[in-house]
This record gives sequence, C-alpha cells and structure tokens, in this order.
Amino acid sequence: MRVVLTPRSTICVLVVLMTMGLFGLAHPVFAQTGKDPVISNLRVGQHPDKVRLVLDMSNDLSFTIFQLPDPYRIVLDLPQVSFELPKTARTRSVGSVAGWRYGLFEPGTSRLVIDAKAPLKVAAAFVLPPSGEQGHRLVLDLAPTDRDEFIVASAASIERRMANRTPRVTPTPSPNPPAVPGDNRRVVAIDPGHGGVDPGAIGLSKVYEKDLVLKVAKALKAELESRGGYKVVLTRESDVYIQLRERIAIARRAGAEMFISLHADSIDDTSLRGLSVYTLSENASDEEAASLATSENKSDIIAGMDFSTEEPVVTDILIDLAQRRTMNLSTRLANTVVEEMGPRVRLLNRPRRSAGFAVLKAPDVPSILVELGFLSNSQDEKTLRDATKREQLATGLADSIDRFFLGMQSARR
Ligand SMILES: [Zn+2]
Repeated sequence: MRVVLTPRSTICVLVVLMTMGLFGLAHPVFAQTGKDPVISNLRVGQHPDKVRLVLDMSNDLSFTIFQLPDPYRIVLDLPQVSFELPKTARTRSVGSVAGWRYGLFEPGTSRLVIDAKAPLKVAAAFVLPPSGEQGHRLVLDLAPTDRDEFIVASAASIERRMANRTPRVTPTPSPNPPAVPGDNRRVVAIDPGHGGVDPGAIGLSKVYEKDLVLKVAKALKAELESRGGYKVVLTRESDVYIQLRERIAIARRAGAEMFISLHADSIDDTSLRGLSVYTLSENASDEEAASLATSENKSDIIAGMDFSTEEPVVTDILIDLAQRRTMNLSTRLANTVVEEMGPRVRLLNRPRRSAGFAVLKAPDVPSILVELGFLSNSQDEKTLRDATKREQLATGLADSIDRFFLGMQSARR
C-alpha cells in the first residue's frame, strides 16, 4: 500500500502504524459494557483525486483494511459495532466506488465492504479525534491506481492481516480435529499417487509409479512418526484406486494440516531428470472457491463456523481469505521442500511450478504435489527403486515438514 503522508504528526503516526499492521495497538480497546459502539453515519464524497469515506463513530475504534481483487473490494474490519446509519448512507455509486455493504461479520468483528469499479488504493486511513460537534471519525481515502499495484497491495494487506490477527476468520487448521482429546500431534496427509487400475507412469524397467510412490509414502510416514509429534495419514495404504476428490476428503476427515501428493513423472525426453514441487495455480482455485460457496455443509468447515446466513458476498470474502491463506501456506511449504531437498537430490530446472492439479484443490489444507523424479530417466528411476535412496528422500521431506511447522509456530508468536 502506498500511503500519502501528511505533515501532521498524529496522522503520520497512525498511518505508519497502519502500514506496519500494528494500528490495532494504537487505539484503546473499548470496554465491553454490553452495548456495542455505534457507527451513526457513513458519508461518501467524490473529491478531485479520490473518494473519501467518513464513518462517524461513538468511540475511538481500531480497524484493519485489506483489499481483494476480482472483483475489486476494499474491506474494513472493525470491532463489533452497531450500524445505525441514516438512509442517506445507503449504498450507491460514487466515482470509482460502486457501492458498499456492512454488517456483523462474525462475533466480535463488524465489516464494511466497498466495491470498486476500478483498482483503488488506500491513500490514507486514520481516525480523527472529536472536534466541535463531531465525534470520532474514521477517514478512508481511496485513490485510483492500476491493477498491478492493486494486486501487490492486496497480497501485502492480506499477509499483514494474517500475521497480526488470531486466525478466527481463517480456516481452522484442523477442520475435523483428531478424535482423541489431548492429541496434539500434527496431522500430515501423504497421498501416494495413482494405484489399482491406474499405474501412473511406467518406468524404463516397467516399474510402476504407483508402487514407487507408495513405498516413498510409507517411508515418509515411518520417518515422521519416528520423530514424534506427527500423526500421518496415507490416502491409500495398498494398491488401490482412489478418486482425486476422495484423496482430499481423506485428508480433511483426518484433520490434516498439510497434504503432500507424491508422484514420479515420465516424459519423452529421457535426459530430463530431477525433483519438482507443484502448487495449485491461482486461476484454477477461484472456480473451486465459487462451487464451495454454494455448498452449505462445506462452507462452515472452511471458516470453522456456520456462515450460511451471511450475505453471499461476505461468504465470498471468507472463502477468498481462507483460500488465499491456504495458497500462501502451500507456496511456503513448496518453497521449503525445494530449499531443503536442493542440496540432497537432483532438482529439475525451475523446480517450483504450479498447475491445476485437482488433488491440490482442498481450500483449507495447504497442499503440494511432489514429482520425485522421472521414471523415463534411467538415473532417476534407479534412485527411486533404491530403498536407501527412498529413505533419503523421506528424510529430506520430513525435514521440510519439520521446518514448515517451525516457521508457522514462530509466525504465530
Ligand atoms: Zn503421477
């Protein structure tokens, strides 16, 4: 977010704090007296260089702002408030602002969603103290920008929000927590690709991908469980065909906090070799989010709450957030695997890739697909057929998983 600073020191401080994502600390927390603070008006006006929104507030409230693309939205989250707005504050089109909605997002959080016709940046956002007749006012200036800048600002704003917020509106890490109370083990789902009637790639020596990846999966399960702190679920333990959707379902039923699908490729170019790691491409994920939004029994799993009574657009936002967070975590996991495996095994050129793998479409479980190597390459095939080399692969993957969860812990502190 590019913020236009004014020379006024108080505003500067607020804006800088906001830029750092720490502005929540800048305002006193209102006392829970049983009555929510009141938003008594929303005034929206077109200025030469911006659209200015002013919220009249009964209290000095903390706020967070983030942006979502496709369609362009600016989202303002407040503590739980009572919106008591006059008819003049009803949604309408003002400049590049197409309209707005507001309401309780979840207990403790009220939300204002501003729809934009074009990319807008948050040029300034600050709270003015009471002056004369006027009480606290939250001022939000939205100025034109371009799509690229909006996308960058959006990603940064969501990252900041995730980093500075307890994950209440984000998906619960375990949609279906382990049944045993007090079991704090991390649940990891390992998905050996193919199986049964589907052999996957066939190696030079006629070895099947489905058999090799099952062996690596079992080695990885043994390695992780020997380290303690992990409960490992395999989507299949034998040579059986499992539908792609069912693989995701198995992971989610187990309350998995990550999903790693194991494969080995085959290609005409027999010189091509090395390990590569895939994440779901972003374009493909939106379609999944849309279909998920229509599914009542899935929507509450994503957010760990029932929001079937929410406005549809708010539901969209929740899913956007959930999926974006999942995609961020998937990317982090994939990068960690590449970094960890790089010094140990041969990597494919450009080892970090993304594609529309259906098996990576769990909206709430960070998911990656690891192509362990090419069965069409004699050296790669030899590596994968070697039990000792498979152990080394499993150790590298287990180290990656350790490091990923360590990173998550430190990010939460
Ligand atoms: Zn495969």
